[in-house]
Amino acid sequence: MKLYIETVGCQMNELDSELVVASLRKDGYELTASPHDADTILFNTCSVRQHAEDKIYSALGRLKNAKREHPGKVIGVLGCMAQKDQGLIFKRAPYVDLIVGPGQLHQVPGLVREIRAGGGQRMEVSLNRKDGTREQIERSHESFDPLRDPAMRPTPYQAYVRIMIGCDKFCTYCIVPSVRGPEQSRPPADIVAESRQLANEGCREIILLGQTVNSYKYREGDHTWRLSDLLASLHDIEGIQRIKFVTNYPKDMTNDLLAAVRDLPKVAKYLHVPAQSGSNDVLARMKRGYTVEDYREMIARTKEWMPGVAVSSDFIVGFCGETDAEFQLTMDLVRECRFKNSFIFKYSERPGTKGAELYPDDVPDEVKRRRNHELLALQNEISEADNHAFIGREVEVLIEGPSKAAEKEAAAADAEAPSPNGPLQLTGRTHCDRIVVFEGNPRQIGHTLPIIIYDANAHTLFGEIATRHSGPELFTLSVPLQTA
Ligand code: SAM
Ligand code: SF4
Repeated sequence: MKLYIETVGCQMNELDSELVVASLRKDGYELTASPHDADTILFNTCSVRQHAEDKIYSALGRLKNAKREHPGKVIGVLGCMAQKDQGLIFKRAPYVDLIVGPGQLHQVPGLVREIRAGGGQRMEVSLNRKDGTREQIERSHESFDPLRDPAMRPTPYQAYVRIMIGCDKFCTYCIVPSVRGPEQSRPPADIVAESRQLANEGCREIILLGQTVNSYKYREGDHTWRLSDLLASLHDIEGIQRIKFVTNYPKDMTNDLLAAVRDLPKVAKYLHVPAQSGSNDVLARMKRGYTVEDYREMIARTKEWMPGVAVSSDFIVGFCGETDAEFQLTMDLVRECRFKNSFIFKYSERPGTKGAELYPDDVPDEVKRRRNHELLALQNEISEADNHAFIGREVEVLIEGPSKAAEKEAAAADAEAPSPNGPLQLTGRTHCDRIVVFEGNPRQIGHTLPIIIYDANAHTLFGEIATRHSGPELFTLSVPLQTA
């Protein structure tokens, strides 16, 4: 049987899809790249912005005829939009068979089997945040962490590892706490065991995931594990060469964590710490729980402890009531912090959030668009200038695989797997998460190599493998003298 899956949204969704596919493979499914060939079609959805939801509803609309012609096809909607819209999805697209929230994904194989056996439509979602005690709601959002299947990851050398689910911060613009439920940290022993298994399967880099990953807390007897403790334990795993974690909450960037990042060589010197805005009034309306001064202090401390650290951020432009002057304060913050990169989003009102209830979405779309372009142009200018500073330097790169251009070329030529020794454009990342592209060969994938940078733009460093001179400095060729 064939499975087609489309994933939108964050890394958490990418990991969820990887795990759902692995669990369906055990039921005999093979992946297909086309929905037309598929017996089961799944959408793993996002509801952070309206645009992500619109995309899914129009993809569902396109399947209406296919379902009429092949009623046996199972169509399922998983993830955040499934949890948010629940039965509304059946109303808008009555030919959908399955709706499963992010806290119920372990049920997907069983539900698909029931539908195939003629059981009719199925929906499994978690309790809404107001529909029970905290304990009941927590239990209804189960962390889905089955055994890992290396074949399901985009590269065998990198893997996401979930360390917590949910969020309790309730920023006023954000739907995540409603759809992903209360913040719950996974037991450290489970995280270490999963990472060890990944290392045994050849994984070199793990990326720890949580909505506010640095708020990780797990009580075990008298001891409370924090992210810094977890990093120290994971650091001991043989085979793991690099550890990253996303996304950080500015207020929880504590000194023990900074010390762990500084002192543990395998931990990437890279921190994603979204600021969202440079204006205190906007931050207060967003209920982010910190001021710009707090954020600046955190950045100053981070850079003082780790010169050369790379920090990236997220920003929302055009949040309710954002004036031009408030937006300029965001520009100032970006100018000052010199982020490695920033993800910039136009505010999208989410029904059910405090923001939607309290404040009108009153910044015109055209103004949001203009601010988005202006902030992006500034960020690109900074990224390019800072990347240029790498020209002539040697960096350590963990090689991830063929570059995007090489992959495109191979797909266009419909080429078979590259020869293990032929030249190939490769890509990888530095310790501070900068993307590097260079000429190498496929057997170098998964290794760390020194690369000398000769060019750069805002997004990429271009380099060549540093070849080491070894052996005696001078060679003397002795030619036997010919006697006459
Ligand atoms: N938990 C992370 C954090 O607190 O930074 C990220 C969660 S969210 C999936 C990723 C980003 O989407 C946020 O940092 C924010 O910039 C953006 N975002 C969230 N809600 C949004 C909304 N309603 N409109 C526009 N952007 C939004
Ligand atoms: Fe959303 Fe704020 Fe939680 Fe991030 S911290 S997931 S932005 S509520």
